[in-house]
Formats: sequence, structure tokens, C-alpha cells
Amino acid sequence: MNNSFFDTKLEFLKGVGTARAALLGKELGIFTYADIIQHYPFRHEDRTEFHKISDISEEMPYVQFRGKIKFIETIGEGAKARLVAYFRDGTGEVELIWFRGIEWVKKSLQINTDYIIFGKPTEFNGKYSITHPEIEPLTNLEAQSGFLQPVYHLTEIMRKRSFDSKGISKVIKQVLAASAGQFKETLPEDLVRNLHLMPKKDAMQHIHFPKNVEMLKQATYRLKFEELFYTQIKVIQQNLFRKITYAGQILNNTSLVTEFYNNYLGFDLTGAQKRVIKEIYKDMGSGKQMNRLLQGDVGSGKTIVAFIAMLFAIGSGKQACMMAPTEILAEQHYNGLRPLADKLGITLEKLTGSTKTSERKYIDDYLRTGDLKILVGTHALIEDRVQFKNLGMCIIDEQHRFGVEQRSKLWQKNKDIFPHVLVMTATPIPRTLAMTLYGDLDVSVIDELPPGRKPIKTVHRFDNHRLRVFGFMNEEIEKGRQVYIVYPLIEESEKLDLKDLTDGFESVSRAFPKCQISIVHGRMKPKDKDFEMQRFIKNETQIMVATTVIEVGVNVPNASIMIIENSERFGLSALHQLRGRVGRGADQSFCILMTGYKLSKEARERIKVMVETNDGFEIANTDLRLRGAGDLSGTQQSGVMDLIIADLAKDGDILELARNEAKKMLEDDPKLEQYKNIFVKKQLESIPKHTTNWARIS
Ligand code: ADP
Ligand code: MG
Repeated sequence: MNNSFFDTKLEFLKGVGTARAALLGKELGIFTYADIIQHYPFRHEDRTEFHKISDISEEMPYVQFRGKIKFIETIGEGAKARLVAYFRDGTGEVELIWFRGIEWVKKSLQINTDYIIFGKPTEFNGKYSITHPEIEPLTNLEAQSGFLQPVYHLTEIMRKRSFDSKGISKVIKQVLAASAGQFKETLPEDLVRNLHLMPKKDAMQHIHFPKNVEMLKQATYRLKFEELFYTQIKVIQQNLFRKITYAGQILNNTSLVTEFYNNYLGFDLTGAQKRVIKEIYKDMGSGKQMNRLLQGDVGSGKTIVAFIAMLFAIGSGKQACMMAPTEILAEQHYNGLRPLADKLGITLEKLTGSTKTSERKYIDDYLRTGDLKILVGTHALIEDRVQFKNLGMCIIDEQHRFGVEQRSKLWQKNKDIFPHVLVMTATPIPRTLAMTLYGDLDVSVIDELPPGRKPIKTVHRFDNHRLRVFGFMNEEIEKGRQVYIVYPLIEESEKLDLKDLTDGFESVSRAFPKCQISIVHGRMKPKDKDFEMQRFIKNETQIMVATTVIEVGVNVPNASIMIIENSERFGLSALHQLRGRVGRGADQSFCILMTGYKLSKEARERIKVMVETNDGFEIANTDLRLRGAGDLSGTQQSGVMDLIIADLAKDGDILELARNEAKKMLEDDPKLEQYKNIFVKKQLESIPKHTTNWARIS
């Protein structure tokens, strides 16, 4: 729509009027021709079928009849008055009923004239009626043959002012009529031809007013393809651009990795780990800065991959750092990696908010000389006083806890040339989403768990079976296991949640008098939280009653039961994360999802998928399907939100095709300078830009 004609303001369209134009602007952000014709219907009502009155049943969501009004009367008085029209089609009779606008309707209805009526039938005392039906004289040709009626998104205020779907469709029809000859093709012609796509001008017509279902399908496909194609061009181009712009250090010395691998690793890497390490190794020797996202389900073994990545850097004479979102996680990484580093004779220290001043000073100096090789820590790492001599590799664990800005600060830690960056996340992103967010570059996936893991058994239990659940807990605790019990914490009702938590704590204390019990929640001081957490880690307490503060990364292999209270209040990715806290040891682990009886349809689906699968990617896909891309964590600032017709949960195939075509084009002509592609570039420029350069920082 790169044409000033489509920038025409709607108030200049005959018959729209300033009031309606203003309403469209205020309610839907629709101001111009382009805006309104891209306000696509979210579904169509099938008006191609005419029913017989004799076939009517209450199960029918709507009916459409052709027939005549035989008689009209007003029943009742004042506020209770209603208008009833008796409508017949030769097979039977229905009553059409109006409560509002009686006088006006009465005047406009004609006896014994052909009408089409449309509405939802209800039955009362063996008679069918339709309240406030749509009614139209059977005069226009379109109505006679039936049609697909577009249904548009509206607001309550528009409805109140009688500006309904039909009103919108009238405006659109008018704009489309005025636009004849104004549409230019917005995709390269050979693409349209080779992929048999519907031309733009036809697609714009048929997306609103399709001749039939097939045309609607083709129009939808074409517009989705276009949208995804340009997103892909944009994303892939930004990635290519980045690769060219930011040079990287060549850090591919393998000596330390080999030494580690041969002597100290202690287990075989999974195939997926090996593959990912190869990908990282290749990046680190490419002379371009690596900015890679590493996705892997909880427990898939990302830490060791990160350690090996750091060893490439250190083997090449550089320093490395690893940033975790909480003190506990930093501590765990430190405890896990320090022994390995010691064996290799590599210096490794930890820096967090609670590091003592004297020690801090020592670490600061140690870093600057370049003698400290690995620094593990929290946000404290990004403070200005933390200066490396030659930082080659940054690892960021559990990405979704860090903002883009914090990450980019870490980038700047090396003076002349950016360090390589590896961001790790255990929140799998569906492939389609990853492709859209990051192009197809720089995403590594560990899609395999280390051997010998017993899959976590997940069950759903209703609240009134809590005693039995407690009984089961008891058995496991007697075997020496530990248990998490997690309560939701939602900000709006923090007080209530806290009460749930403390009530829960009390009832657990009563039920398990012999056990030591920890409690952890977000209102506690970090120091106290840490203290309780440490007690649980050391097995001094057997039950941990907590809110979602324990969600990320904590590793207590002896804990084998995760009980999630009010689990219907958690999102899928949170449920999956929480479940990932167990199943880390050799024992069979369990996740028990507690709910009341009353569950929304979506909550039931979430619980169902949790019970059925442990596969984070499948869960992420379900999440995407249930919630849509815009709500998924981290996508708000990404531009994915701006898709107006494509749906990443459903349009994976179209996306794949669009991506391949975009790739082909850019491989051949990275800057879109060739004559035949110039128009793609122009088209791209006409799409609004996003302020965040999110492609730079994974
Ligand atoms: P996550 O991906 O959730 O961060 P971790 O890196 O913490 O997972 O690994 C979980 C556990 O699995 C650790 O105890 C780690 O030592 C172990 N582990 C990692 N890779 C393997 C492997 N290939 N074989 C056996 N155990 C492994
Ligand atoms: Mg981890």
C-alpha cells in the first residue's frame, strides 16, 4: 500500500461522516483508507445457505430464511412493549421480536414482501422466535445467491452507537470501489507467478468479500505470505548486516577443551550437546562476533556446553564470564564449575551483591590484570567498576530474567571488540517464533536429555484429594526424598496469595510434625530467602513451601516431588519451569497439579498438555496456540506483535515457505540493490520501523 491514495483520510469518503470517522479513529486507530482495508475480518458468517423454517432447531447457532411477513403486532406496553412480526416461508412460521426501536422498525417493515432474515433461533412453548434479527429486503442480487458476510472486530462503544460489523463492511466496500486501479502488486512478480499467489488487488477484495470459501482461502494465504515474507526479509537482513558489521575475536584454540574432555568430563556428551558445541566452535573461529541463543529444556545440560564455550576463549588467552539471574543460581554455577576449573588450573571467582568489600576489591584488580580467567556472578557483573583486561566470552543464563539493556551492557565490557555472547534459556521458544524473532541464524537447540533420566510423572489432583496427596508425600519423605509445594503469587492479590501460602504452610506443618519445613516467598529479604534455600539444598529441611521464586534453575537432585497448588493460575511455561525443579536425580520424580473442580477450558488444556508430555517444545507450541504470540515472554518488544493477519501458532508452513523465499532473495542480493528487487526494498521501507534493535541482542 505504498501509494498516497491509500493515505486519504476516511472523513473525506462520501457517506462516512465526521462522527463515524472519528469513532473509527478513536476506537480502532483507523484513520485512512489503508487502515480500514487492512482491518481484516476475523471470520466470515456463511450466508450462502438458506434454511427452511421446518428444519429449525435450537442447536443451530444461527439461521437464514427467505420469506414474507404476514402480520405485525405490538404486545405489552411502556418499557415491556415488544414488536412481533409473524414470518413464514411456506414450511412454517417464526416470530421475529424487537424490544428496541419498535416504532422505527414497525414503520420500515412491509407485509407480504420478500425478506431475508438472519439470527439466532430460540424456542419457547414449542414456538421458535428470533430476537432482533437482521432483516433485509430480498432485492439485491448478492443477497439472493447468498454470501460470506465479514465479521469485524468492534468495541463496545461502537456497538452502543449502532456502528456494527455491517457498518464497517459498508465503509470498506466503498473504499474498495474507490480504489479500483490503485492497487499495485506488493510482492515480486515471479514470486506471485511461481507460487500461484492471488494478486494483491484481488486478495484485498476477497479477504473482505469473498465469492466463495476457496477465494477466501487464497486471499488469506496470499496476505499471510506477504506479511511473513517481509518480516523474514527484515529479520534475515538484520542478521546478515550484523555479521558484516561486528567483527569478532578468533577464539578457537581447542587445547583446554581437549584436556577437559579427555580427563575430567566424567560422562559422554549427548549428540545434541556435541552438535551445539560444534556450532559454537565454528562461530568462535569465524572472525565475526557470535551472538547465539542456546535453547534447551531444563536438565538438558546447557551448563557444560557453556563451560566448554568458555574454555575455547580461555585456551585462546582470553577471559570469560557467566551471569545468572539470582544469587542462588550464581552460587550453584560457582559450586559446579569451580572444581572443574581447579582441575584444569584455571582461576574462577564469584561476584554477587553480597560479596564482601575486601574480596570485591581483590576481584576487581585480579580481573584487570587478566589473571582471573572466569568470573561467575549476578547483575553485579554489569556494574561499571567491573573491568576485564580482555573479555572474550559472555554467557548469560536464563535469559528471560534479563532485560535487553542489561545484556547490552555486558557486551560493552570489552574495549576494542565485542566479546562473543551465548544466551541460554530453558524456556523453549516454538520454532516459528524463534525464526521470526531471530531469523534462522544463531539459534542452537539441545533437543535431547542425557541418558538414563526417568521422565517425570505428572498427575492432576483435585483439592479434596489433598489427604491422599499428603499420604503419598509421606511415603516419599520416608524414603529420604524432598518435596516442593508451590503457591501462585500474582501481584494484584498479593495479600490473598500470601495468606494462601501461610495457611498452606500451617496445614503442612500440622500434617508433617516430624519434618523440617522451609518457607520462601518474594516478600522476604534476599538474605533470609537464601538462608532457607540453603537449608533445603543441604537437606536440613524436607519440605519447601514457596512461591514461584524458586522457578528458575535451582538444582536439588534429591527433591523428587513438585506439588503445585492452584495450578490453574499458572501459565504453561511457568508450570513447565516449576516441574523442571524435580527429575534431576536418579529417583522417579513426580509433579502433582492441584486444582479445584471449577476450571476454565484453557486451564483444562494447560493441565492436559502438562500431564501428557514432558517435551518443552510441545508445551511451548501449545502455549503459543492458546495465548498467541503477543503474550509470550520476551516478544512484546520484538515486533512479532505487529503481525496483523499471520498467526505464528498456525502458519508455520507459510512461514517456512516465506523464509526460504526471503533467504533465496537475500543470498542472491543481500542489500536488495538489483533492479528487480528494488521494489522489495521500497516496500520494506514503507513498513513502520521498530525502535528497539532487537536483532542485535539475542
Ligand atoms: P540445564 O540445561 O537445565 O542448565 P544442567 O546443565 O544443570 O541443565 O545439567 C543438569 C545435570 O545433568 C547436571 O548435573 C549435569 O552435570 C548433567 N549432565 C549434563 N550433560 C550430561 C550428559 N551428557 N550426560 C550425563 N549427565 C549430564
Ligand atoms: Mg541451568
